[in-house]
Amino acid sequence: MAETIVALATPPGAGGIAVVRLSGEDALAVAAKVFFPHNAAKKVENAKGYTALYGNFMVNGKPLDDGVALFFRAPHSYTGEDVAELSCHGGPVVAQSLIDACIAAGARPAGPGEYTRRAFLNGRIDLTQAEAVMSLIGAAGRQGAALARTALDGALAKRIEGFKQQLVALAGHIAAWVDFPEEDVPALEPEALSATLGEVKAGLSDLIRNFGAGAVLREGVDAAIVGSPNVGKSTLLNLLAGFDRAIVTPIAGTTRDVVEQAVMLGGVRVTLRDTAGLRDTGDVVEAEGIRRSRRAMEEAGLVLAVFDGSAPLTEEDKQLAAVCAGRPAIAIVNKSDLPQQFDPAAIAGSFSEIVTLAAGRGEGAELLGEAVRRVLGVANLDPSAPCLVSQRQYAAACEGRAALEEAENALAGGFGLDAVSVCVDDALSALCRLTGEDASDAVVEEVFSTFCVGK
Ligand code: GDP
Repeated sequence: MAETIVALATPPGAGGIAVVRLSGEDALAVAAKVFFPHNAAKKVENAKGYTALYGNFMVNGKPLDDGVALFFRAPHSYTGEDVAELSCHGGPVVAQSLIDACIAAGARPAGPGEYTRRAFLNGRIDLTQAEAVMSLIGAAGRQGAALARTALDGALAKRIEGFKQQLVALAGHIAAWVDFPEEDVPALEPEALSATLGEVKAGLSDLIRNFGAGAVLREGVDAAIVGSPNVGKSTLLNLLAGFDRAIVTPIAGTTRDVVEQAVMLGGVRVTLRDTAGLRDTGDVVEAEGIRRSRRAMEEAGLVLAVFDGSAPLTEEDKQLAAVCAGRPAIAIVNKSDLPQQFDPAAIAGSFSEIVTLAAGRGEGAELLGEAVRRVLGVANLDPSAPCLVSQRQYAAACEGRAALEEAENALAGGFGLDAVSVCVDDALSALCRLTGEDASDAVVEEVFSTFCVGK
């Protein structure tokens, strides 16, 4: 077992309780130097796994706090090592004093992600689950957390394992057929070969396709609210925020800088950016605001293009619609409470979603939420289905799929089974990289460097 590490497992700051976690060969020996059970007959060093003791935390012979110590015995712990979790009262001073006492007693401070790294190195979890821990901690919404939770339960690893087994069986069969012609290996029908390649490729394509939508649920999306002056952009922002975040006046050009507000829209965390109305202006400040709003629009993962339903279509409206074509964008035809002069059909070619609402009356947020889910592709995403949760996993899945495509091409081009076999091996090593089976130290280093200390 590795040397003993210590860190705060709960968030820093004041709280009901704080948990200081020790893991490693001497976890219980270190705990025994700082924690003294009330029942003097109980010895910390002899504590069994999954048991708790009540007692005092002592620093330099002086009582610091009273609390509970929880023990786990290798390999039945998060890290797979001996673990002691010391729960003291949640104040930064108490917890830090306890950590200092553990260090004085022989532990060393844990590095970022070191607990999860040990869990990985000890075979408790695979790399996809390790990344899911990080994803779960950082999840932006309930559904994003559900997705990360699914990965943490190993659903992705199981799905990839299934693909690997199919490819290993295929590679084995090809090798036997090619290398041992004298043995009675049944011939590999090209149809069966191509069916397996196609099946695994389709499975990987599913994961790859849902990666973007999963990322939207986990991390949220930046949305730019754009449109001509006075169409109701700020009113819409205020409606979605639930309070008066932006200044609303009937004077065109009121919003000059970009106003930002995060809201939940259709279950997605959307960071709204209300921008200066797009129009030609001689005002230097307004012109700079318009420049920024164009940039916000280019950088946005979602564009909410607002039009005034009570006014006829303008030249600016047409330009805006043209810029939105082919992007994740929703047309919002506002002021539906007034007599309508705007013809939504005129912009229908540029938007897959057109929502008619009256932001000024506080109406339409729900309809907009549904449109957001459809445009971002999360409407049909099943949070219990396996999902890639990091860019690294996504890249590995893409490499695996590309190698399978090459295998298909080799087969179709009549290049022989040797060539197919090389491509299948490439696909297999991409999938192994995905779950971290032959992950190089550099990959492991990269994954765990994004963790916070204490995880
Ligand atoms: P922005 O310049 O695009 O941000 O527009 P504002 O949000 O400042 O709104 C411009 C004017 O339109 C204000 O006087 C609002 O009260 C009015 N307005 C906004 N939404 C509606 C609506 O749904 N119906 C009506 N009748 N007026 C609205």
